[in-house]
This record gives sequence, C-alpha cells and structure tokens, in this order.
Amino acid sequence: MLHTARKRFGQNFLHDVGVIQHIVSYVNPEPGQHIVEIGPGKGALTQYLLKEAGRLDVIELDRDLIPLLERACTGLGELHIHSADVLRFDFAALATDGRALRLVGNLPYNISTPLLFHVLEKLSCVQDMHFMLQKEVVQRMAAAPGDSDYGRLSVMIQYYCYVDPLFLVGPEAFSPAPKVESMVVRLVPHAQPRVQVTSTARFSAIVKQAFSQRRKTLRNTLKGLLSEDDIRAQEIDPSARAETLSLEQFARLSNILR
Ligand code: SAM
Repeated sequence: MLHTARKRFGQNFLHDVGVIQHIVSYVNPEPGQHIVEIGPGKGALTQYLLKEAGRLDVIELDRDLIPLLERACTGLGELHIHSADVLRFDFAALATDGRALRLVGNLPYNISTPLLFHVLEKLSCVQDMHFMLQKEVVQRMAAAPGDSDYGRLSVMIQYYCYVDPLFLVGPEAFSPAPKVESMVVRLVPHAQPRVQVTSTARFSAIVKQAFSQRRKTLRNTLKGLLSEDDIRAQEIDPSARAETLSLEQFARLSNILR
C-alpha cells in the first residue's frame, strides 16, 4: 500500500539504517523492559526495538499507517498499537505493571514542545526518554542561563530531567527530508529534584510569566506576582531578565509566591 507522507502529522520517515541502529544502540532495549514508542509511523525504529525488547507499546495518530506498521513488525514480537493522539494519551495508564516506562520516538516536530510538556506531567512513571527532535529544540532544552536560546523549555526540562544531547542527524536520513537538522537527545528524570520548590505549580507559573516577554525585566514581567522588594529580598536584581536566571533563582522566587 502506498502512503504519502502527511505534513500535518509531522511525518518525516527515517530511512537511514545507520542512524536507526545508532538510536537503538543508545536506547539499548532489553527483554522485560516496558518500552513505549511515540509515532512509530511505518515502523523504521519499531522493528528494531521490538526485536530486542520482545514487547512494545506504540502510539500512532495516523490510522492509515497501522497496516504498514503491522506488516513491518510481523513475527518480531508482541506489538500493542494504540491508535491515539499522544497529546491526549495517558502514559500512566500503561505503567500499571509496576515497571517504569522507557519512551522512545522520532517525534512529530510540529507538536514537540506541547508533547514535551505533556510528558513532564507524567514523569513519575518514566525511567528515561530518547527522542529525535529538531536540533534547535534540543539546544533550547540544554541551554544554560545567559545563552540566547535559554527559555521556559530549558528551565522546566532541566528542573525535571538530566538532558544529554547525543548526536546530530542530517535531513538526508529522512524521507521526505525536513528543512531542518535534527538531534537525538536522552532525558533522564532526576531521582531527587535539583532545586527545592514548595509547589511545582507555582514554579511553573513563575517561569512561564518571567519568560512571557523575554526582553522585559523581571520587575515588569512579574508585576502583580512579586514586588521589586520581594525580588531584591531574594538577592536577585529586579532589572535582570529571565534569560539570566538559574534554576535555583527561579526556585527561590517561586517559593515566596503567595
Ligand atoms: N517513527 C517513524 C520513523 O522514524 O520513520 C515516524 C516518525 S514521524 C517524524 C512522526 C510520527 O508521529 C508519524 O508517524 C506521525 O503520524 C506520528 N504522529 C504525529 N502526530 C501524532 C500525535 N499527535 N500522536 C501520535 N502520533 C503522532
């Protein structure tokens, strides 16, 4: 059956076997592990993951791909296909056997940021994640305070996870070739939070508000939440911008939010 790649589903199928094997070797799937692939597509990665793990859950939105996926994986192991939108998918419902999930995916780039935030909400059932993303997104995830690409995504991901950018992948590894470069990243949830926050909801709210207007000072972006004196009392300059603040400084500000 012929399938034309759908742009609205962010479909760029991997066809470079070297890249596929490289990803699988980093994941290093083992029998007995609970591996979940997001967006299996036609099964480029799925076949290898399934062969090594023996069992796999996959979540795919495009129903037309399911027959192709099933055919590619026939006889390789126990494949559980969830025909669903990953943004509405409850990962915790899969983790009922007590084993933490290992998430893998060459992700649809058009939904990568909301998808990452969705996954962060369910991290307690996740062991690790290996994702292919647009290179710039991985750079944002790994950015440090003061870097031009340091933002809300950097702070929130680093609050929850250790970020390990693994390797670059050029457009020619995909069909159709995307216009951007890609990167594979490993994310491992911290066993203990890197900074102490009294409420993750308040931490998340202050980070969001502080970065709502990147060019503005904290004095302006946090108006209504914290006064200049509140900010100064935490030994933070109210005329600083969010992009210069460390995780620890965000934690301190969020802990005094009422
Ligand atoms: N894993 C395949 C590969 O590497 O060739 C396909 C990767 S392609 C970049 C992204 C896949 O995610 C596509 O199969 C697409 O249909 C699927 N997808 C897009 N949006 C999705 C969503 N909201 N929920 C689940 N799957 C989605």
